[in-house]
Amino acid sequence: MSVSTHAVKCARCKCVLETLPDAKPEPRAACPQCGEGDTLENVRREVGEYIQEHISKTIHGALVDGVRGSKNLKVTSDFHPKGGHRFIVDLEPR
Ligand SMILES: [Zn+2]
Repeated sequence: MSVSTHAVKCARCKCVLETLPDAKPEPRAACPQCGEGDTLENVRREVGEYIQEHISKTIHGALVDGVRGSKNLKVTSDFHPKGGHRFIVDLEPR
């Protein structure tokens, strides 16, 4: 899954972040509404974590569904996403 094809949004306002390639000392991205932002590098990393978390949540859900009805196999459904991301992307619905 490529982040570059998705618009990065502010988790709070759901506004697409503005990139500020000329910002000093590093290029930044920031929410035009609330000003939440960080360097492009940090934004990219945080979005990466968000995507990873989304994927593990999806896999976990599939696992729990898959063993439902089986008497011998148990999967605990205690996956707690860390949450609290400042930046998100719209991921394709499954
Ligand atoms: Zn915002």
